[in-house]
Amino acid sequence: MSTRYWLRRKLHAEGMRCTHPRRCITEALEKKPCTHAELVEITGLDRVTVYRNLLALQEIGLVYKVYLPGHDTMYVLCRGEGDTHAHFFCKKCHKGICLPAGSIQIAEPWKSRVERILLVGNCPEQCKSLPHHEDAARN
Ligand SMILES: [Zn+2]
Ligand SMILES: [Zn+2]
Repeated sequence: MSTRYWLRRKLHAEGMRCTHPRRCITEALEKKPCTHAELVEITGLDRVTVYRNLLALQEIGLVYKVYLPGHDTMYVLCRGEGDTHAHFFCKKCHKGICLPAGSIQIAEPWKSRVERILLVGNCPEQCKSLPHHEDAARN
């Protein structure tokens, strides 16, 4: 499914229009998570437009943000479908992964109240071989 079609469908489901800035931002984030400054540079949109549209995209759960110590806030695209699913963000390669629904078990009364779950660590793909203690040494 092309990003353009997918985005249009998602936005329309939320009663939002698929505007040029939203499309530019989403297409940039599809390649990799970006900071606000990077999005301004990549899209050529002004700072306020990027900021406002990022807010709107976060409100409907299409974009989420990640803070890592020593980094500017990164915005990550969610391509997952359906209910609340957890996000895993790799602090080494800065990849955001939508985990399958139900990957994380949460007990009631919290389960029905959770809006977002963000996990941070080393992804099991290219970053699995790096030993854990290296992080402690670096931070
Ligand atoms: Zn997701
Ligand atoms: Zn990784």
